[in-house]
Amino acid sequence: MRSFQDTLHHHGLHLVREVTSTLQINTGFRCNLACKHCHLDAGPARQEVMTRATMEEVLSFVRRNSFKLADITGGAPELVPDIAYLLDGLSLQVERVLFRSNLTLLTRGEYAALLEQLVAGKVAIAASFPSTNKKQADAQRGSGVWESSVKALKELNRLGYGKAGTGLELFLVANPAGAFLPVEQSRAEQRYKSELAAKWGIAFTNLYTFANMPLGRFRAWLERSGNLQPYMAKLAAGFNPATVAGLMCRSLISVSWDGFLYDCDFNLAAGLYHSGRRLHLSEVDTIGKGIPIISADHCYGCTAGAGFT
Ligand code: SF4
Repeated sequence: MRSFQDTLHHHGLHLVREVTSTLQINTGFRCNLACKHCHLDAGPARQEVMTRATMEEVLSFVRRNSFKLADITGGAPELVPDIAYLLDGLSLQVERVLFRSNLTLLTRGEYAALLEQLVAGKVAIAASFPSTNKKQADAQRGSGVWESSVKALKELNRLGYGKAGTGLELFLVANPAGAFLPVEQSRAEQRYKSELAAKWGIAFTNLYTFANMPLGRFRAWLERSGNLQPYMAKLAAGFNPATVAGLMCRSLISVSWDGFLYDCDFNLAAGLYHSGRRLHLSEVDTIGKGIPIISADHCYGCTAGAGFT
């Protein structure tokens, strides 16, 4: 298999940073679930979460830059003790905030204040919902996860999320159950919309589909099952040069729970620092244009087929 860098070179393409308009904040690897496809190996045994001191540094970094979107991810951000503080600070400084949730915690009683804060701030929610099939979803994410996700989606709908005219966006995120490419996004969205509406009365804003990244827990499974090489070959064979111009790393920078910078959350999982150096965000003033993006073979997961942009 040709390396990702060689493939870019072969097509005369360069992966460099444009204007950075999104700050993705990985608030930690602690999660109540341990999904098979997780690229970060997040789970209940992980202790890494963002402290308030790092949140203050994140907010100071946001003040020095002009991000339009703050994308809060984890782990499960619900489990970060000072998440409300981070949300408050971000809401004052950026146009849009996106909160990623695995759906199994957010609508529980103990997170009522957090949910209220999200609604009041019109914070968009992006929720993992890999399959409309209960058996398949539970095999990927754990027993009972599908049912609590459906319950949470209904509750979010009741609060106005995913409903036209409320300003409360609800995105669903789906990925394949194994070592294959996702179905085309608009087709999958149509199917999800009609199935969720007809069977459970659930509405949502948009669906995003993506290929599982050969990193973290999913990579460990690929290795154990002898699927790593065939899967990498499949991703590489699906390389679509048209996706490169729109790759999210051109306009996004990711910060880890302990404040270090990466070109995306996948590079964070792979331990590949922004600029190739271990840079803490307190050492960086602004993120400029034209900086080469650090890439590796897992990037084929973003450029296969319709791509992940
Ligand atoms: S994994 Fe995807 S988003 Fe990250 S650097 Fe590679 S191509 Fe860009």
